[in-house]
Amino acid sequence: MVDVCLRATSPGARLEVTVAFTTRVVQRAQAAHGLAPTSTVALGRLLTSAGLIALTAKQEGTVGAQVTSKGRIRQLMVDANHQGHLRGYTRAGELAFPLTPEEKLSGRRRVAPGTLPGHLSVVRRNARGEYTQSAVDLVSGEVDRDVEHYLVHSDQVPTVLAADVFIEDNDVVMSVGALVQAMPDGDLAQLEALRARLVDGGLLALARETPEPQQLLGVIQPDAEIVEAPVIFTWRCRCSQERVVSSMQLLGPQDLAEMIEAGEPAQVGCDFCGAQYQVSVDEMRGVFRLLIQAEG
Ligand SMILES: [Zn+2]
Repeated sequence: MVDVCLRATSPGARLEVTVAFTTRVVQRAQAAHGLAPTSTVALGRLLTSAGLIALTAKQEGTVGAQVTSKGRIRQLMVDANHQGHLRGYTRAGELAFPLTPEEKLSGRRRVAPGTLPGHLSVVRRNARGEYTQSAVDLVSGEVDRDVEHYLVHSDQVPTVLAADVFIEDNDVVMSVGALVQAMPDGDLAQLEALRARLVDGGLLALARETPEPQQLLGVIQPDAEIVEAPVIFTWRCRCSQERVVSSMQLLGPQDLAEMIEAGEPAQVGCDFCGAQYQVSVDEMRGVFRLLIQAEG
């Protein structure tokens, strides 16, 4: 099944309800970076959350979300755009916390022991390049609840956000998310009822029972009406040979000169997607010439 995102509204409760599957995206992320289960779940929740924010934004653009942590996860970094392209990485891909009996039962793994203390910062950029940035301390450490906390504070809109990744034998079986936001005249009691049903593993349990996106939407909010054509989420990076070569300007003329002197091509990896690039000595010479010209 493809990773689909459905946007709907509930005319009765005056809620905006968005449901997304990101199973393939998180499988690709796990494979690209060689992630162990806890790292996969933490990154997957942030990828799904950023995708949900990007696709429900009032303006087209990109969403960058970063968790920086004094815990063992150290850093999670993702970005998403309105076309549904997602990418991201973590500085600690090896985390594999043992499961408690409760986690085994619910399928929802705790990641907070690896993320706390820390904070979450989110940058939202529109098509004109204007951006807003704000940060909050992690309050739960489970990532999806922290993004929810961020949204409530930054947008001042009553919000429920749940995102989860179900892993069996180190394989990602399912990744799913739901974002519910009240319209100005929204029914807040219904929103709270949804919170009780969806967070902390509730959404995952519903999705495992009803893995078809449209049916799942109906289970979450029976009067939901889809308001936009579905968007497919894909794991896609914006890196290219050209961008990698251009980024070598950051090294400065001295380091570049030394690398050219050494006569070996440079190996450069993309943090976001793990792609490996080779920059030839000729390409480095081109960058070096540009730098020297720029410095006059
Ligand atoms: Zn890349």
